[in-house]
Amino acid sequence: MKIAEWTQKLKKNYLFQSVAEKVKSFKEKNPYANIINMGIGDVSLPICKSVVNSCIKSANEMGNIESFRGYSPNSGYDFLKKSIQQDYQDRNISLDLDEIFISDGAKSDMSNILDIFSSDNVCLIPDPVYPVYLDTSIMNGMTVKFINATEDNNFLPLPDLSVKSDIIYICSPNNPTGASYSKPELKLWVDYALSCDAVILFDAAYESFIEDDSCKSIFEVENSDLCAIEFKSFSKSSGFTGMRCGYSIVPKKLKRNGESLNSLWSRRHSTKFNGVPYIIQRAAEACLSTEGKKECSKFIKYYKENSKSISKTLDNLGIKYFGGKNSPYIWMKCINDMNSWEFFDYLLEKFQIVGTPGSGFGKNGEGFFRLSCFGSHENTLEACKRLENMKK
Ligand code: PLP
Repeated sequence: MKIAEWTQKLKKNYLFQSVAEKVKSFKEKNPYANIINMGIGDVSLPICKSVVNSCIKSANEMGNIESFRGYSPNSGYDFLKKSIQQDYQDRNISLDLDEIFISDGAKSDMSNILDIFSSDNVCLIPDPVYPVYLDTSIMNGMTVKFINATEDNNFLPLPDLSVKSDIIYICSPNNPTGASYSKPELKLWVDYALSCDAVILFDAAYESFIEDDSCKSIFEVENSDLCAIEFKSFSKSSGFTGMRCGYSIVPKKLKRNGESLNSLWSRRHSTKFNGVPYIIQRAAEACLSTEGKKECSKFIKYYKENSKSISKTLDNLGIKYFGGKNSPYIWMKCINDMNSWEFFDYLLEKFQIVGTPGSGFGKNGEGFFRLSCFGSHENTLEACKRLENMKK
């Protein structure tokens, strides 16, 4: 018996596990400390009324012999797919229902999609970015190349035609930097992917935070349906981190080596996945109703208030930061030349504030720190008050 090779190649802990362990040990030593967690990107507001009502209604349906349902279709119920289709149509993007695959969230989708690709592929991953891309590429035995996202390119790297790759991860708006691509910039990525037969995995988990004319979907770009797969999540837009629902869009035109990636993903999905619960799919459908959209947009507004409070505090302190506009994260520079983990310890010990060390998102994240805007107003304002005492 041998364990998988990737187990020797990965860092011991997933980033947020390391953060949680440090916080746990601090709490053991300081049991009365009032810690404010601005680390993990979990939401704090409860799901909205129309979603709650939909859950109650569908739970009652499940308790009635006439309307009870067993297994969901693997790729999701048509009622939810139709709502998603309409949501895209409202933005002039036409999708067929069988191009939409409902799942339990974007994290699993972004990992599982690699099942349909050979491990003999080169993955191009932005640095810094959501750590799941790197970890899952390693787990799937892929070769990884990084593309540098730095202050010099406004954290929006563009394709380097001399670098060959097969699978390209794009996260826009980016976690952690908050940078988001415009349509002309994404077109360069689409052209590059088409030129080398690569496939773009486009993570739009934070699309609902976009407030300028950045692309909300890769499918706004011409010919992207020949080279891109999109991943979406209800987690951050609708408070679904604990409900679990997301979806992937795999265009039927997308083919590689003569094979339809849509058919391969469908094959994979139907073998390894047994569908999202009916109640959750009804809940997700409610998020896309007129009333649901109105309610969910209030969440975004609420979290953006937090971004404003944190930004104002950092402005007053003269600390450089990015993000917070098209995303729920502030990407700040660590003060006094501290590295990311030193700054983490400093904030925890001195102010009992937890954030996420930038270096956990890649080597270019060293010297940076991510603050989440997903907390309550109260906690965020309290954290800002504490941060005002930070000395440069
Ligand atoms: N994609 C990005 C960029 C994220 O930051 C996250 C969660 O933090 C996810 C995907 C995960 O989304 P989900 O909750 O749908 O699994």
